[in-house]
Amino acid sequence: MLERRFWCVALATYVTAAVGAFACRTRAVSRAESPPATGDAAATPAAPSATAAADAEATASIGGAEDAGAVPRGLACLIEHYGGRAVVDAAGAWSLELPDGAVVPWDDGRSKTTAERIASPDLEDMLALRYPRGAIAPVTDVEHDPGRVRVEALFRATYGADARAVARSLVDVKLAGHVVRFHERAAPALSRVAARIDALLRADPSLRRYFRELGGTFHPRNIAGTNRSSAHAWGIAIDIDTSMSDYWRNARGEIVWRNRIPAAIVEAFEAEGFVWGGRWFHYDTMHFEWRPELFDERCVSP
Ligand SMILES: [Zn+2]
Repeated sequence: MLERRFWCVALATYVTAAVGAFACRTRAVSRAESPPATGDAAATPAAPSATAAADAEATASIGGAEDAGAVPRGLACLIEHYGGRAVVDAAGAWSLELPDGAVVPWDDGRSKTTAERIASPDLEDMLALRYPRGAIAPVTDVEHDPGRVRVEALFRATYGADARAVARSLVDVKLAGHVVRFHERAAPALSRVAARIDALLRADPSLRRYFRELGGTFHPRNIAGTNRSSAHAWGIAIDIDTSMSDYWRNARGEIVWRNRIPAAIVEAFEAEGFVWGGRWFHYDTMHFEWRPELFDERCVSP
């Protein structure tokens, strides 16, 4: 049995900056050919990256009743950072087909609290809370946890299906006199952070105490008290000196935001696309995590 499916091919052309061009084309596929709900790359039509430009040119004029509309801006932006391709069903619901064959919804249509977004996120939820920059301020809104929403399928497809796969992709990065292991995709950004930190330490050696003993980088584990993977399991997070850290789970009684990490260190990481756990109501102030999409206006603007 055949059904009409709309396939959208997201094209990323990098010249001096990445420029995305998107075009939709229609395609008849049998139900048996439809992408599976979870990873089975063999049954999934291959992403036509080599011929994508030609496809787009040939089909860009398709429109009218069959035009499924443009790829949601945030979804197109996520594809630029993480890969995969946008697909849309006959009802107009968009999903991301990941390079490993997994398909995750862009918008499941549910309205959620932040805790619900964290527990059961769609891709849109990952971008829903704007990550703030600038002066460090106490976080008093329980909903304010920007960066704690993670669609695990996206990270698995991007960084490795399991701990062994992630471990194979780790490389050495020198940071503040240490050598740490970091995912090769995120390592260039961490190296740039390290250069910024080196400059800070030269100007103010007292900042060394924040890097005396690092809390660590890659560690295949769940987030404390949950069954969700920590960003450390993907090799994209680093904890700086634990003795200077504050963590919401250690708060006695009511959660009251605390922080001892200076703004200069936070800025060094944020400038290279790392979110900081000190911007969260559920704070974790030694924690920095590479999440470039949250610093990309195209991803976070509605
Ligand atoms: Zn951490």
